[in-house]
Amino acid sequence: MTDRVTFFDTTLRDGEQSPGAAMTLDGKLKIARVLAALGVDVIEAGFPVSSPQQAEAVREIVAALGDEDPVICALARAKSGDIEAAGAALRGGKRTRIHTFIATSDIHIAAKFSAPRFGATLREQRKSILAMTRDAIAQALEYTDDVEFSAEDAGRTDHGFLCDVVSTAVEAGATTINIPDTTGYCTPSSYAALFEAARTCAGPSAILSTHCHDDLGLAVANTLAGVEAGARQVEVTINGLGERAGNASIEEVAMALRVRADQYGVTHGLNTETLGEASRLVAVVTGFPVAPNKAVVGSNAFAHEAGIHQHGVLQNRETYEIMSAGDVGADAESIRLGRHSGRHGLFSRLDRLGLEVADADRDAVYERFVALADRKKEIYDADLHLIANPATMTDSATPFTLASLTVTTSTTEPPQAEVTLLIGATGELRVETATGDGPVDAIYRALDGAAGRPHRLESYTIRALTGAADAQGEALVVVSDGPALAQGKATSTDILRASAEAYIEARNGLDNDRPQEGDFVQEGIMASFDPA
Ligand code: MN
Repeated sequence: MTDRVTFFDTTLRDGEQSPGAAMTLDGKLKIARVLAALGVDVIEAGFPVSSPQQAEAVREIVAALGDEDPVICALARAKSGDIEAAGAALRGGKRTRIHTFIATSDIHIAAKFSAPRFGATLREQRKSILAMTRDAIAQALEYTDDVEFSAEDAGRTDHGFLCDVVSTAVEAGATTINIPDTTGYCTPSSYAALFEAARTCAGPSAILSTHCHDDLGLAVANTLAGVEAGARQVEVTINGLGERAGNASIEEVAMALRVRADQYGVTHGLNTETLGEASRLVAVVTGFPVAPNKAVVGSNAFAHEAGIHQHGVLQNRETYEIMSAGDVGADAESIRLGRHSGRHGLFSRLDRLGLEVADADRDAVYERFVALADRKKEIYDADLHLIANPATMTDSATPFTLASLTVTTSTTEPPQAEVTLLIGATGELRVETATGDGPVDAIYRALDGAAGRPHRLESYTIRALTGAADAQGEALVVVSDGPALAQGKATSTDILRASAEAYIEARNGLDNDRPQEGDFVQEGIMASFDPA
């Protein structure tokens, strides 16, 4: 048994299944590059059969990453069409893996394999599952020699049957055997017991893997219990993103294994100094903020407030810190960027944050910085990620761009908005005024008037993105036109302006008629099992 733990990151697959966290293709590519820099061993890039967007994301990630980069993995149910789709999406990749799974717990078997063709009794249904396991692995091996098998809901699977499935999968040629606690039901001791049961049936060559969910807040504890019980792969996500309460978080598992190497006695290949950057990128791409008190990557994880603690840390950091901020890429400096900062201060900080800015973009980035610094006391690192991200910059090639916005609200009159909209196709500036139930309603009515075609507002969310009263607000809107849906997101210190820009981005998405993320019906694909 090796003492190195393989890090399998599923932010782009299980993490993408977080309700409301649908990622754009561009966002997924950025995350894949950050995962490669972080040094994860395997990236689970998607579930190709579930939607054309998922298949495209896997293909694009295979194309974007080099031979030295992590293994790219695609998920497939133990079904011929799924494995074909996974194999096709991975085509051309040098180091690829197919991860196939089938449900093994009694409750899943009763729900998914009740059709007569799977057998009349539990015994017959289990036999069918073993046969499908064998067939799926054999088919996956036609595409790659790196095949992983998962016994879905292993956490609630009978140990005897789990043993049968595991030995069948190893005999069929799977080299990694995942024992997922799909529902987050296990405790550390019960999860460890599953590994003890699986170990004897898997034989010495197969790598056993953990996959834990946080429904009881035990995902990281269970993952570590799995490692103690012999697991040498951990399936994790950045910021603990994932279905329902999420998966075990990569930053917590990685640092627990490092800080307590004395107990676990294993190594891993992660460049933990990039954990902070990875966490911030995933927060921006998904719109899911990280809680300030989140372990390892929260903004308070290395902040000291109490006088006694501050004094102790000044004497010797180790009095109150078990790891250093630098180990995880957290900000241990107190350099403040504001309106008096020059270009040197800005770009050296961006460099340190790993935010590359092309020479051609530097003037535009600096202008954005100065414009924001004029409206804020202090520029935070989170602001810099937005300033440096070209996706949030104005692009005159888009159908509509907001040129100006004036909103008036008072206690005696209905709110009124005046907008000036730049029409990309003609360069024309259209001004429109409207009143509404509230200022946002007034803005959206005015924008509809200027753009010439009303759309239906499906949802609208506003939240503070960075700390303090001069925080950036982020608006997230979904608009529809008939059956087509599009999402828009914008940030500004002015929430009304962010609301306007998010609405325009969503409308531009509809006008460009691009296929949208979010077509993946989460419950549907996981709950239905209907082999063709
Ligand atoms: Mn999962």
